[in-house]
Parts: sequence; structure tokens; C-alpha cells
Amino acid sequence: MHFTNQEIHRLNRSMLEWYDRHHRTLPWRSEPGDLPNPYHVWLSEIMLQQTTVQTVGPYFHAFLQRWPTVKDLARAELDDVLHGWQGLGYYARARNLHKCAKVVADEHDGIFPDTEEGLLKLPGIGPYTACAVAAIAFNRHASPVDGNIERVISRLFALETPLPDVKPEIKEKSSALTPSDRPGDYAQALMDLGATICTPRNPACGICPWQADCEGRKSGIAPDLPKKRKKAAKPTRVGYAFWIRREDDGRILVRRRPEKGLLGGLYEVPGSDWRAIETPDDVMLSEAPITAKWSELEGTVGHTFTHFHLNVSVLATTLPADQADQMDGSWTTIDGLADFALPTVMKKIVRHALTYR
Ligand code: SF4
Repeated sequence: MHFTNQEIHRLNRSMLEWYDRHHRTLPWRSEPGDLPNPYHVWLSEIMLQQTTVQTVGPYFHAFLQRWPTVKDLARAELDDVLHGWQGLGYYARARNLHKCAKVVADEHDGIFPDTEEGLLKLPGIGPYTACAVAAIAFNRHASPVDGNIERVISRLFALETPLPDVKPEIKEKSSALTPSDRPGDYAQALMDLGATICTPRNPACGICPWQADCEGRKSGIAPDLPKKRKKAAKPTRVGYAFWIRREDDGRILVRRRPEKGLLGGLYEVPGSDWRAIETPDDVMLSEAPITAKWSELEGTVGHTFTHFHLNVSVLATTLPADQADQMDGSWTTIDGLADFALPTVMKKIVRHALTYR
């Protein structure tokens, strides 16, 4: 399907008019027609990757309160940033956020580049984020395609090729529709339409500004779009966590994970590697940080990462101080655990240990 220039103009106008009346009020947004603070736009876009608007709101406010400008964030300790990020997941983003703030502060005097190409050179900014920030913060003629926009465009054109194969076609169609006038508002309008009207299961086509032109609606297949290619089942991995208590004062051992790799740089209850389900127990036990008499706690801790499910068994022991003090890591009280950047899976392990110990 193809739209004429006149039809495109009409689609653009109706979408922007709808946005002027029905846009969502979000903490990082400016009013339609005004340019927002690029630091706010960038911060929100990084936080919103893989996370919902509702979840991000309080984090966004907390970050701005603590680090009101990109220069403040650049001067922050990485540990504080990781700690502030707890609960948002995907910690590599937090590390890149901090790196990016430093580059903007040190090499650009605190001013974000205002083009897609310039933004792409910054750490942690991929093609989507560069495009979104260029459009929203600088009103550049750019067409970001997030999950919401993907849905709206695939329905408007009734694109039946499944994701992810259909992505290039969606990008091309979306770019061809993007107006030169207010491209930032237009991108946000599509995001809002996808979030509030063109929703995954029950699109409210009756109140959609594009209903007259929407091929997906006309052919009755809109709710099934975009189609998704069937995913391979996620494998399950297993591992041990070692809950080690110092006898004299009841403190618990935590340690920092290596900088590189999953949950890099965050704190953990010491553990074995997470391995295939067939791995013999003695292999994982040989990865205990110390030889000790372990008692296995009841049940396991389950957690799902992007590429695998994890089941962790918790082994507990108590060590006399002279033995404990030879170990690498930090000994903390239970209350003190809150001061360490523990990812969600580790918090679950702590809860489990405190419940079953
Ligand atoms: Fe989505 Fe329906 Fe609007 Fe088409 S008419 S864009 S399916 S809400």
C-alpha cells in the first residue's frame, strides 16, 4: 500500500492535532511545540529501554533530584549510579549512562550533540536512541521506531511479515511518513497512540485519528499485528549461592562481581557459575569460595533473564572470625545489605536465605 503526498500530509496533520489534544503528560516532556531539555530526554530514553513508563517515573525524578545536570551525573561515583539504578535492570545501561555523561561533560562541555550522527558516537547510544533524542530533543527530521510505533505502522499498512523480519519495512514506511514540521512531536504522538489507543490486544480504532486510512482496521487483522516469529524456548541454568555468616557478629559476606559480563560490577551473594542443568553438583560445589560444612536451604530461587531461566539453590554456613577474615569480599549486617548495589536476583537470594535459614 502506498500513500500520496496529499494523503501523507493529511495523516500528519490529523496525528499532530490528536497529539495536541490527547498527549500524555510525562515528567521528561515539554508541552507540544516546545523543545525539552536534552539531558532529560536522553536520561528518559535510556531508562525506558526494556522498562515501562510507570516504572521509570520515580527513577527519573530521583536521578534529577540527585544529579540535576549531565555534569553532575558525570561527577557521580559509578557505585552511586548503579545503586540508584537498582530495579531498572540491565546494568550495562547504567554503566554506559555514566560513561556517556562523562563524555558529554568533558568533551562537549555538558552540551549534547544535536544530530543523530553526533549522538551515535556517544557511549550507550545506539541507532534507536540517537534517532529518538535527535527528533524529540532537537526536532531533527528523524524517525525513531519503538515497540509502540512498530505496532501502529504495521497496522496502518497491514504488514503481515512477522517481527523481526518486518523491521526494515516498518522503518522505511515510518520514515516516509515523518513530516518536516514538528518531527519530534510527531514521533511522540505515534508513541502515545500506540500506548493509549492502538494497544496490543484491543485497539480502540473508533477513536483513532487514522481510522479512515488504516488497512489493518479495514481488513480486520489489526489486533493480530505485528506478527511475531515463534521464539526458541529459553534454556534453564542452575547454580549455588553461598550464604556465609560470620559467627562473632552475624555479618554476611557479599562481594563484587567482575566488571565484565552479566550483572558486571554489581554485588552478589557469592555463588557458583550458572551452568547447564545437567552439570554435576560437585563441579558447582568446587566453586564455593571456601571449603566448609554447608547446609542446603529448602526450595530454590527462580529468576528469568533475557536469554535463560535460572534456578539457584542456597547453601548456608557459619564461619569463625579467623577463617572468615581471610576471605575476599565485604562483611555486612542484614540492614547494611541495602547499601550495596544488589541486582534483583541477589535480593531474591537474600530474601530466601533470611526466610529459610
Ligand atoms: Fe491502530 Fe486501529 Fe488506529 Fe489502525 S485504526 S492505527 S489499528 S488504533
